Amino acid sequence: MLVEELYYEDKYAKEIETTARVTIGDEDVAYLKFEENIFYPQGGGQKGDRGKVVLNKKETCNVVNTIKDSQLGGAISIVDEKLLEELDSVKVECFLDWPFRYAQMKLHTVVHAHHCVMEEVIGEEIAFPKVSSIEDGFAFNKYSAESFDFAKLGKVNEEFQKHLKAGAEVKTYAEKGMDFRWWECMGHKIPCGGIHVDNLTEVGDVDITFSNKKGNITVKFALII
Ligand SMILES: [Zn+2]
Repeated sequence: MLVEELYYEDKYAKEIETTARVTIGDEDVAYLKFEENIFYPQGGGQKGDRGKVVLNKKETCNVVNTIKDSQLGGAISIVDEKLLEELDSVKVECFLDWPFRYAQMKLHTVVHAHHCVMEEVIGEEIAFPKVSSIEDGFAFNKYSAESFDFAKLGKVNEEFQKHLKAGAEVKTYAEKGMDFRWWECMGHKIPCGGIHVDNLTEVGDVDITFSNKKGNITVKFALII
């Protein structure tokens, strides 16, 4: 098992005890790697994980972001200050900012699932969004205006809400021998290395707005919490 990628093996893991390694650091910041890692590195439109690292059950530093760095070898968490030297090669407890991550997982699922429902309702294959971005609490898909008939979006959104209520299993897995992963739901497959929920029912209520401006159709999704 690729334990460095525990965020794929157990996407619902919110905390873990593991060994930290300081990769690079200076007075104010340290780049940490973990032997087993639950912090997803920014990529595929999804934001990098945040959280905290606790040493000796008391000393804490914050994970402010997680990035992927091929030179440093995979997922690197950026932590603030202080515990730098003490953190190298010691057991620590890692805690995800779970509300943030879970919102990212829901929204990441939404941007793909909405695209699939749109293809079904409109009845044709539609080019993937030019931009598919997951922000803090909302996400959007941006398409070229010529990609599909904007007038049909109202019907698409209505059908999409029905799918969210009805639920559908979401599977994600690595393509054997390849360097990418699949997202699969409702009979559709999309290549994506992000983290998603296991079922559409987990998404809950979503407010959808859309606009057609400057040659772009933007469909925006906000979680209603
Ligand atoms: Zn995805």
